[in-house]
Amino acid sequence: MAAYSDRDGFIWMDGKLQPWREANVHILTHALHYASSVFEGERCYDGKIFRGRDHSARLLKSGELIDMDIPYSVDEIEAAKAEVLKADNWDNAYIRAVAWRGAGEDMGVASKRNPVRMAIAAWEWGSYYGDAKMKGAKLDIAKWKRPSPETAPSQAKAAGLYMICTMSKHAAEAKGCSDAMMFDYRGYVAEATGANMFFVKDGEVHTPLPDCFLNGLTRQTVIGMLKDKQIKVHERHIMPEELEGFQQCWLTGTAAEVTPVGQIGDYNFEVGAMARDVAESYEKLVRA
Ligand code: PMP
Repeated sequence: MAAYSDRDGFIWMDGKLQPWREANVHILTHALHYASSVFEGERCYDGKIFRGRDHSARLLKSGELIDMDIPYSVDEIEAAKAEVLKADNWDNAYIRAVAWRGAGEDMGVASKRNPVRMAIAAWEWGSYYGDAKMKGAKLDIAKWKRPSPETAPSQAKAAGLYMICTMSKHAAEAKGCSDAMMFDYRGYVAEATGANMFFVKDGEVHTPLPDCFLNGLTRQTVIGMLKDKQIKVHERHIMPEELEGFQQCWLTGTAAEVTPVGQIGDYNFEVGAMARDVAESYEKLVRA
């Protein structure tokens, strides 16, 4: 497969479409050195971006949280995404919007004088966990912990927060796992490296309270769906020793959608009726 830098098509950059291979930045880009970057991952289903405006609003919020004003409105970002999808004729695609501090007069940690830039690209991205999707993904347990909200703005989808995710996912893949489950700084069950987590015990659902990690849009959608189905959802702190007692588990995320989990470390879960039903209901909802 061609490198992501070497593809046909167009990327929206700072207000206009650029040929894909020309959408480049300078090596002295602030974001490359200091992780001054926020992004969104979205999916377009049959020509419609699922919760597109919510993603754009979260992008602006993420910028605010890292003290970076993104110079576009939600409406302008929506129009830019539409332009990208139209230019390459996408009906079903993954969309990546990213905003960052560019190269400019500042090269130190402070970056008030550098321009804030933005780009949007779309491409085809199938099942995030590949074949594992409906068989139940196998997860490692990460040695890295989600940091305290006093250490980093945990509700920002900010590049810097992904450093420990990349390290955790590399370690997981080296052991033959699809992803890693991370604990938080207090030792509670938190999330996977790019998705939120749900557990089932005796017909009721338990999901970690997102008080130090991203409260994903898919997570919120799935909680709403479960409540509509009259299923009890407990959002609470979950201790590692509780993993033993859970019967089912699944991940939620824009890329992951709803992916059942079969194993986390030494704990096993069945790909049960509820996990399958939630995955199917989500698939229907995003195309409704
Ligand atoms: N946690 C992390 C670390 C993520 O990267 C993602 C994906 N954006 C999520 C959770 C799920 O968020 P969403 O459902 O909004 O895609």
